[in-house]
Amino acid sequence: MIKLRSYAGSAWHEGQGESAILLNPATEEPLAETSTGGLDFKAALDHARDVGGATLRKLTFAERGACLRSIYDVLYAHREELLDLSVSNGGNTRNDAKFDVDGANYTLLAYAAYGKSLGDRTLLVDGESERLARNPRYAGKHILTPLQGAAVHINAYNFPAWGFMEKAAVALLAGMPVISKPATSTALLAYRMMELLVDADVLPQGALSFIAGSTGDLLHHLGPQDVLAFTGSGATARHLRSLDAHVQSSMRINVEADSLNAAILGPDVSPGSEAWHQMIRDITTDVRQKAGQKCTAIRRVLVPPARREDCVEALEDQLGSLIVGNPADASVRVGPLVNAAQLEDVRAGVEALDAESTRVIGNAEPSDLPGVENGRGYFVSPFLFDCDDANAARAVHTREVFGPAVTVMDYRSVEDAAALCARGDGALVSSVYSDDRRFAREMLLALAPFHGRLTLGGDKVAGFAPGPGAVLPAMVHGGPGRAGGGEELGGLRGLSFYLQRTAVQGYQPLLEKFFPGADQGL
Ligand code: NAP
Repeated sequence: MIKLRSYAGSAWHEGQGESAILLNPATEEPLAETSTGGLDFKAALDHARDVGGATLRKLTFAERGACLRSIYDVLYAHREELLDLSVSNGGNTRNDAKFDVDGANYTLLAYAAYGKSLGDRTLLVDGESERLARNPRYAGKHILTPLQGAAVHINAYNFPAWGFMEKAAVALLAGMPVISKPATSTALLAYRMMELLVDADVLPQGALSFIAGSTGDLLHHLGPQDVLAFTGSGATARHLRSLDAHVQSSMRINVEADSLNAAILGPDVSPGSEAWHQMIRDITTDVRQKAGQKCTAIRRVLVPPARREDCVEALEDQLGSLIVGNPADASVRVGPLVNAAQLEDVRAGVEALDAESTRVIGNAEPSDLPGVENGRGYFVSPFLFDCDDANAARAVHTREVFGPAVTVMDYRSVEDAAALCARGDGALVSSVYSDDRRFAREMLLALAPFHGRLTLGGDKVAGFAPGPGAVLPAMVHGGPGRAGGGEELGGLRGLSFYLQRTAVQGYQPLLEKFFPGADQGL
């Protein structure tokens, strides 16, 4: 069995004491073990801050961007090996594995390009100078400089590659050293990525550290110049928000958490149209991909009453034909859930949905699956629910079933649909499908305060729009309320989390000389 190590203080450490075991979720075969017992977390943090941070801050944006490009080159050269690990430890089909691994690479390339475009400088200037007195020569500018601590990243189990790199790329480009911790259950892929990067020697000393397992006392050593970016459950987020460094010293925390995303069909869209097919395809993808273990997946489908039956029929057709099983088998489209705890959680969530909706399809204990020994693995088959009374229902708006499950319900008006969506208490992304401009605009505006991102589908984009489940580096990822209240990516906007914005006031010509130009989109 592989023994994972942590990379801290620019050296590998094998943990002591009790180990956590990483499994293949389709077969329950043990693949690796890990422990962080005995690791000196304070020394790791000091090394990242003092060595990694100091080195990164001396590099220009172009040089940091070149570093990201080198990371991409190394990971891309080992793409096949990484995809295999994603299949075995993540329970991903090969396509699901590509979504994670290629998503990581695409994000690295995007931020490498941002670095190149910012060029040979180490400073960002937020907007034009502001005149502050009657005499125009007294003015102010806003500058952005990297915080001098470390960026600690804690990731969820579902995207070990993308989660690792979408956070690390932004922090490194901003000039902050990273200490990254993947979720333990699927850490094998992220671990191998780290091994490859260390072996290829593409990172400045101390720029990237890696914790394979528990964070020990690391978080208790964080201070006001450090930042913590977390993706995972709302429950863990609440615990992290109670850390002294946050409560007493205002250390920044960014949280990406749960979400009950919706798809809303406009009254103008009829079955058989491009927009209709687009919506059915997007929902099917989100239920199938990573067995629905995607924070951006559509959980609720809101349609006009006259379309509900057609929608349920179309989805039953699509979801009912998906083959569930061991993702190592090429015929399989839906793999297992990641572990026993998630399986139990999904089963309990489905029971809650059963209580208020009709289960059209779905099996919490499927058997005779391709490549699976009966009784082994963490499988469910896709669930489709039909809800008669969306306003009376509760669980469907409040309980995120983190698996392949979706519920169809109807809405009566823009206001009704917006109110139903808002009962999710804030979401990452929802999608509207309509070619009726008035409806589409009203719906988008009604949804916007409750969402970090909205996508508008329709006949004009149906042929080429990626579904709402795909997070693109140029657009912000995050959402209010239940979704965590955080924000990641969004091009240069993502850098702000790692930078201090400082207003500088003084003699205008001098300020212009010190801090020339004006960067946009921060
Ligand atoms: P989780 O239990 O909160 O774990 C997430 C991460 O936090 C893991 O790396 C975990 O490490 C770590 N962790 C847990 N307790 C910790 C503590 N006391 N101190 C430090 N680290 C701690 O979440 P999950 O069940 O794995 O993930 C599923 C949830 O994540 C879903 O609700 C989903 O919606 C959400 N999610 C959100 C996004 C997004 O972008 N908004 C993306 C993906 C997933 P260990 O694995 O070592 O316990």
